[in-house]
Amino acid sequence: MLERPDLMSQLVDNKMLIPTGVKGIYGFSGEFENVVAAVERLARAIGKQGTTETISFPPAMNRAQLEDSGYLHGFPHLVGTVHHFCGDDQDHLLLLDSVEEGADWTKDLRAGDLALTPAACYPVYGIVARRGRLPEGGVNILLSSYCFRREPSDDPGRLQMFRMLEYVRMGTPEEALSFRSLWIDRAREIAEMLLLPATMEVAADPFFGRPGKIMASSQREQALKFELLLRVSGEQPTACMSFNYHQAHFAERWGIACSDGSPAHTACVGFGLERMALALLREHGFDVAEWPGTVRALLWS
Ligand code: 5GP
Ligand code: ZN
Repeated sequence: MLERPDLMSQLVDNKMLIPTGVKGIYGFSGEFENVVAAVERLARAIGKQGTTETISFPPAMNRAQLEDSGYLHGFPHLVGTVHHFCGDDQDHLLLLDSVEEGADWTKDLRAGDLALTPAACYPVYGIVARRGRLPEGGVNILLSSYCFRREPSDDPGRLQMFRMLEYVRMGTPEEALSFRSLWIDRAREIAEMLLLPATMEVAADPFFGRPGKIMASSQREQALKFELLLRVSGEQPTACMSFNYHQAHFAERWGIACSDGSPAHTACVGFGLERMALALLREHGFDVAEWPGTVRALLWS
């Protein structure tokens, strides 16, 4: 097992992570990507049954839909939007002057219709809502996306851009809840099979500000969020998978209804692919050829 606390320097020294000069944005080596791809394959294989639809999204989404989701109420500190140059020749010259002078050349850029996706499931609710009522039995969707959260950090387990694979269930409250408990059991088994020491805990999202404290404690009280914690870096274990029950929150915002017209309930399960890869490297070492045979077989057979 690799020694703490300098997992980051070991990753950089071994050229697994290639620093770019910005905290939380790294290039990933071929070896690192090999582990990420194996985790992704496993996550896709385990959840394949019962999944009716697979969608991969780019890292940006419809800004209006992010606004509709309520994300700005809870997480204004994490949001990222895409801004564009909208000027004419004269404005272009002014912009170049600003660059030359080291002044702020971005001040006249305008936000367009894109925001950076904060979690893989955010773009899907509006899409499903536009299709009309859910079919009998609800829907299962497998999503993947690069995600952005404005959280610069030196912790390799906290990236500003990272990949998330999510299973989303929309249906009755019972369907959403039984999906989530199925995945909580599966996640424990995944950690066991990968020989990763793990704990499952009730958790809360990092809501912003004073009202956020109340939102977080209500989320905990109702056990709306669980996390699978694995050893990644530092003293505290890190959430590598999350299991969220949104009740009718998203469905009401977008008007997603079950086949009988009642508001749908939704749940999602997220795999943090880089975090899972880091947990494996941390636990089993940087030389994948030396990993326990059962772990290798599960990931690469
Ligand atoms: P959540 O929406 O529950 O905050 O995040 C879903 C999953 O994305 C988490 O369980 C975790 O695996 C992953 N994740 C969240 N934040 C980060 C981050 O800053 N860096 C990385 N690499 N993964 C993250
Ligand atoms: Zn989600």
